[in-house]
Amino acid sequence: MKHTGICPKCSGQDILYIHGIQEAGEIGNNIYTGITSLTQSPVGRYLCESCGYIEEWLDNLHDVPKIKKRFKPFKWGE
Ligand SMILES: [Zn+2]
Repeated sequence: MKHTGICPKCSGQDILYIHGIQEAGEIGNNIYTGITSLTQSPVGRYLCESCGYIEEWLDNLHDVPKIKKRFKPFKWGE
């Protein structure tokens, strides 16, 4: 949806963007890359208003190396 503006499940075109950054009193959608809230990588979400499908994208691709240090690679079929 990020790249097409169209829902892949229902072809809906009304998409909401929910940014991943924490706001006061609101819990955000983040991947922890360390221990504190300062070491979080925000994850933006795209919500289809028609069917509720949600697509998630890391806001900052530069955070991938930090995330890689904390999580193991996915090996399909293992
Ligand atoms: Zn949809």
